[in-house]
Amino acid sequence: MTKLTGQCLCGQVSFKAEGDIAMQGNCHCTDCQQVSGSAFATIVFMKDDDVNISGNLKAFDHTVDSGNSLRKKFCPDCGSQMFTYNLGRPGMTGLRAGSINEKDQIKPQFNVYASSKLPCTILDESIPAFAKMPPQN
Ligand SMILES: [Zn+2]
Ligand SMILES: [Zn+2]
Repeated sequence: MTKLTGQCLCGQVSFKAEGDIAMQGNCHCTDCQQVSGSAFATIVFMKDDDVNISGNLKAFDHTVDSGNSLRKKFCPDCGSQMFTYNLGRPGMTGLRAGSINEKDQIKPQFNVYASSKLPCTILDESIPAFAKMPPQN
């Protein structure tokens, strides 16, 4: 059982999550680079039911190469990216590592889309790296 709390830059959006972390990892896809403005996104997935969100959010949907639609939710006041959802695999909320207060809980298990990582990004060789997404099912 893990308890996570977090908030956006301005504090308008906050969350409390309590449950098991389903998985967490680093995504180096171009979408994550653009939306985060950073080298890669570290996402911690928990069940929707385990995540309690307060504040107003804006959403943006986009389609990825798997054909799935992803939904990004962000604070309309300060622009912080807060939550990400794969609409093709409902039930899970992706929390963004940078918004989580309990930093010692951030332990990425894998790197995905390593083929589009920035040349300057050094991958942790102790965890698996996949050129795109690992095969599913
Ligand atoms: Zn905010
Ligand atoms: Zn990504």
